[in-house]
Amino acid sequence: MVQPQSRDQRRYRTSVVIVGSGFAGLGMAIKLKQAGIDDFIVLEKAADLGGTWRDNTYPGCACDVPSLMYSFSFEQNPAWSRVFAEQQEISDYLQHCADKYGVRDHIHYGVRFTGAEYDEDTATWRVATADGAEYVGRALVSGIGALHIPSYPELPGLERFEGEVFHSAEWNHDFDLTGKRVAVIGTGASAIQFVPRIARQVEQLHLFQRTPPWIQPKPDRPIPESVQRWFRRVPLAQRAARAALYWGLEARYIAVFNRRLGKIAETLSKRHIRKVIKDPQLRAAVTPDYAIGCKRILLSSDYYPTLNRSNVDLVTSGVTEVRERSVVTGDGREHPVDAIIFGTGFHVTDGFAHLDITGRDGRKLQDAWRNGMEAYLGIVVSGFPNLFFLLGPNTGLGHNSVVFMIESQINYVLSCLKPICRGDIAQVDVRQPVQDAYNAEIQAKLTHAVWSVGGCRSWYLDENGVNRTIWPGFTWKYWLRTRKANPADFEITAGRRR
Ligand code: NAP
Repeated sequence: MVQPQSRDQRRYRTSVVIVGSGFAGLGMAIKLKQAGIDDFIVLEKAADLGGTWRDNTYPGCACDVPSLMYSFSFEQNPAWSRVFAEQQEISDYLQHCADKYGVRDHIHYGVRFTGAEYDEDTATWRVATADGAEYVGRALVSGIGALHIPSYPELPGLERFEGEVFHSAEWNHDFDLTGKRVAVIGTGASAIQFVPRIARQVEQLHLFQRTPPWIQPKPDRPIPESVQRWFRRVPLAQRAARAALYWGLEARYIAVFNRRLGKIAETLSKRHIRKVIKDPQLRAAVTPDYAIGCKRILLSSDYYPTLNRSNVDLVTSGVTEVRERSVVTGDGREHPVDAIIFGTGFHVTDGFAHLDITGRDGRKLQDAWRNGMEAYLGIVVSGFPNLFFLLGPNTGLGHNSVVFMIESQINYVLSCLKPICRGDIAQVDVRQPVQDAYNAEIQAKLTHAVWSVGGCRSWYLDENGVNRTIWPGFTWKYWLRTRKANPADFEITAGRRR
């Protein structure tokens, strides 16, 4: 464990500062350790590791990507209890990885990253934290991710509400929902998971839907003991199953550009609705009017049956006002409630806006990203040497596991960090024309893709309607491009060892 240089000033000097200890930050730490680089610190704002899988504890929280793929390739877990693991199991998995690979001691808990400034003379990043401690590193890796700042809509009168209010990512487990009248705002990936769980408990649930999501049945089931044993005894069998799953998920990407396949998927989803929901009005209310894939396709087998319950009321008229004990909608109806739960998602395209990062020549990241966030391969930004983003711009997915993308990025970053940590290289700064050409290439694809032309508005797009979140391609193509950093893409300053 790295000790502060001076206890009074709490100034830490290290080779690599990693921010965040979710899948991205933890994976980076593990790979550094495996590469023989021990001089790194992980900053974690919370009291425990795990990122989104620590924070999201709402009832029913689970992954909608099969766990066989939603896990590190180097640490395949033969003991997954279900096809789609629940939050606690994924959180336990991350704890296990931290212990097994010996990175826990590198994590500084309760340390909130507030900003960083690059000093070109010393080729170091000076990292500031909320508690006043300072970290100085030769490289800075952001494992912050995009889904961590809860988004609360501004509803007129919300401050007057006298009941309980919380967000799905900040679930208040001390508040007993039993017998309560509850408003749930939002019908996205999180809401469709917790609504079926709380509907059994509450007296009345008013579910406020702005846009119906496309939902397909979730092929979830327990993984039998016999299969777990088989995976344990023959790891190759698990690898083969994972490979088959990978290509199966990868094939889903074809539907993004093939409208005929998209139509087939829409027909299957509509059949799902018809099979479960008999009331024609409710059916019409949950049937989307935009192309499938425009927003994230959701998986659930218990959401539609929940809407049939007599204590669940799907409200499609927008919320116009919140009063002391009720929510009022555009059709003039007043819905008396004891609690409001927001399933309204996260600040995604504006999620990095709060970061105070200053690169070369005093240039702020906020200025560099004034017209929208962009990076080369979603990882490096010109003018910000030795700064690396994991899960940065345009690296999100709708069709496969984002852990695959994280591992590809880690591999790429490692190929830069090794010579930096050895002292062979002082700084790497991606060339602006390289970054520009890359972004022109992916935006050319994105402009015609379903996320932009599918007739919906989603958090994939920024305020200017530009897609800043999705990788527009097969993930293996991203893997190919990120296997190793190409020196020709960078302005490289030699290190002292040279
Ligand atoms: P989300 O998918 O962004 O859904 C937010 C919901 O809130 C949408 O229905 C949205 O309606 C609604 N909403 C937002 N602002 C509103 C407003 N002002 N008034 C009324 N409704 C409003 O958020 P999420 O469900 O938290 O999920 C976020 C992301 O987390 C997912 O897309 C996914 O990537 C990730 N996630 C993953 C898993 C997993 O299993 N891997 C599970 C949960 C979440 P509109 O559609 O009209 O905008």
